[in-house]
Amino acid sequence: MSLAALSFPLSSSAFHFSSSNFKNLNCFKPPNATSQQIPLNLSSPNENPSPSPSLNKTGVIVVGAGLAGLAAATRLQAENIPFLLIEASDAVGGRVRTDFVDGYTLDRGFQIFITAYPEAQKLLDYGALDLQRFYSGAQVFYDGRFHTVADPQRHFADAIQSLTNPIGSVVDKLLIGLTRIRVLTQSDYEILTAGEVKTIDLLRSIGFSDSILDRFFRPFFGGIFFDRDLETTSRLFNFVFRCLALGDNTLPKDGISAIPKQLAGKLNPNSIKLNSRVASIDYNSEKGIVVNLDNGESLRSDLGVILAIEEFEAVKILAGKSEVKVPVRSTVCLYFSVDSDKIPVRDPVLFLNGSGRGIVNNMFFPTNVSPFYAPPGKGLVSVSLIGVYDGVNDEELVERVVKELSEWFGEACVGSWRYLRMYRVGFAQPNQCPPTDLMKDPRVGPGLYVCGDYTTNATFDGALVSGRRAVEALLNDRVL
Ligand SMILES: Cc1cc2nc3c(=O)[nH]c(=O)nc-3n(C[C@H](O)[C@H](O)[C@H](O)COP(=O)(O)OP(=O)(O)OC[C@H]3O[C@@H](n4cnc5c(N)ncnc54)[C@H](O)[C@@H]3O)c2cc1C
Repeated sequence: MSLAALSFPLSSSAFHFSSSNFKNLNCFKPPNATSQQIPLNLSSPNENPSPSPSLNKTGVIVVGAGLAGLAAATRLQAENIPFLLIEASDAVGGRVRTDFVDGYTLDRGFQIFITAYPEAQKLLDYGALDLQRFYSGAQVFYDGRFHTVADPQRHFADAIQSLTNPIGSVVDKLLIGLTRIRVLTQSDYEILTAGEVKTIDLLRSIGFSDSILDRFFRPFFGGIFFDRDLETTSRLFNFVFRCLALGDNTLPKDGISAIPKQLAGKLNPNSIKLNSRVASIDYNSEKGIVVNLDNGESLRSDLGVILAIEEFEAVKILAGKSEVKVPVRSTVCLYFSVDSDKIPVRDPVLFLNGSGRGIVNNMFFPTNVSPFYAPPGKGLVSVSLIGVYDGVNDEELVERVVKELSEWFGEACVGSWRYLRMYRVGFAQPNQCPPTDLMKDPRVGPGLYVCGDYTTNATFDGALVSGRRAVEALLNDRVL
């Protein structure tokens, strides 16, 4: 495949946060960006790090230090292959970032780490992450009150009690058990390569009623896929359902960014170059692949280039060789502070909107999961919406959320919450509606590879797998 040498200017990230000063609400100022740098020069467990690559001889260049790029770099380091990991922003993590503001731990959007993710189990030290567990189930707001949905394997009594609640029929609850057995009898590979339909079509074909689809599956899996219509591929549904059956929903004690930080902390710090945006690559260069940064610097790759960037960024660099499926998945996450003694519940449980009304999809109290998410005496509230709400300003969005949640927890309670910040995440996940290929070949051409969640599946695990697969392809191609 011939790719012309390109010099496209690349746009800034689709992610931004907003924190306006509202009349009746106390707000934070946006944090000083430089204070969010990750100290990559801290301890590295690598006893004999490979010599720091000079810019003229970079080994493999990995572009993008999200989970995919970090996984690729981890694999390269394990193979003793020199590499340079180039990241446009001021820290590693990509979409998995956390801001620490006045004692609050604010993940950039609500993210859950499922302990059963198979690739993550191989790469991460769960003990060091000090994972804090969620309740295995949810509280569904429907018809003016909360109803429990519980995993019978872990909360048997709750599950029995909830059999007759209005969040689906008894048959629906038995069908959940059968679905669990079905996914547990298949391997991840079988699931990710099986025939596919939209998730909603799969659930209907299993026989689930509209009540459980609307009151549980849409807010729960719609919240995971940022897709309440549940048009996302059944492959992803089955994969996530299997992981949920096998593992726990957790948060690292110190925020979701502890995951990429742990991976980065094991890499040679001299091999990571932050605040460096790749503007183009010269693919046909006789001197190997040349990577051009937007500051005018050019780096030659001796061993290959792995693009571990979002699909829309890769498409720009690769001359639009493939099209990005739309709409991509978006979300808004709003944070509020509450006095600890005014948190209405103590359980580390996820609350879902099963009412079919309003804009809130789900919410929880992160400090019920990990008390370290807020300063002493305070609790943290996290509220998630699906979509980016471009046409609604911050103030109106906060007012609508406060009004809606006042119906859930009472005006007196919610009225005491103090708005902190919202994250509008324009690009949270790629669109993974059928048809999908969750095992995309990472090869673009000799020595040039892509990885990222869009090449596998849009989860932490998919991103990690994709980074490893790109390096394996590079090794198999014997370009070294
Ligand atoms: C709000 C939110 C909630 C989520 N919830 C979950 C969840 O609960 N569970 C789950 O498993 N997954 C979740 N995900 C999905 C998961 O975070 C992603 O699938 C995964 O992190 C993608 O990793 P990646 O490395 O493929 O891409 P990214 O994280 O997007 O990394 C790409 C990196 O490339 C860099 N880059 C881009 N262009 C350039 C350039 N030209 N030069 C240099 N660098 C560049 C970017 O700055 C970025 O750091 C969520 C995502 C979001 C946003």
